[in-house]
Amino acid sequence: MNTITATHPLPSLGLCPACEGEIRIRKNGRLYKHDQPLDSDAPIVCDSAGYWVTTCPGSGRQPAARLEPTFARWLYAQRNGDAYTDRVAGLASMKFNGCGRTPGRTPGDVDWTTPEQLHQREHDIQRQRTGSDVRQPYNGQRCDWVCRDIAAADAEYQRLVEAAA
Ligand SMILES: [Zn+2]
Ligand SMILES: [Zn+2]
Repeated sequence: MNTITATHPLPSLGLCPACEGEIRIRKNGRLYKHDQPLDSDAPIVCDSAGYWVTTCPGSGRQPAARLEPTFARWLYAQRNGDAYTDRVAGLASMKFNGCGRTPGRTPGDVDWTTPEQLHQREHDIQRQRTGSDVRQPYNGQRCDWVCRDIAAADAEYQRLVEAAA
């Protein structure tokens, strides 16, 4: 159980009062330093030398709210793991690092929150592409390895939530 917790811990996230980003919370209860999103409505701040300060003024402040570590947020937190040896990181990388057409996706950009919704979404995409939600047409299996990765990630996530309760 400890190894699992250490590998993919539930993220501790807070809502930034300045940029409204979902930012990790430090052990002292304050938000990690982070850059302002480029599409932020926050005023542009320059330093004394006239350089644009990209660090969000919410950095180091108390979060406006604590955010529930949903499945989507937990998966997002794993996106920079080793996608080749770690199937949870592999799934996260596929969903959030994405291809060139979908850069910088966050849990707020995807239309699923739970593993069930993500799984259904995979089959919806398959139906849009092929007219059938069977993902392994060569042998008629409705589910493929992506579905199995989602199920494995779901099981691990549920164990973490139970351990944290
Ligand atoms: Zn911020
Ligand atoms: Zn499936």
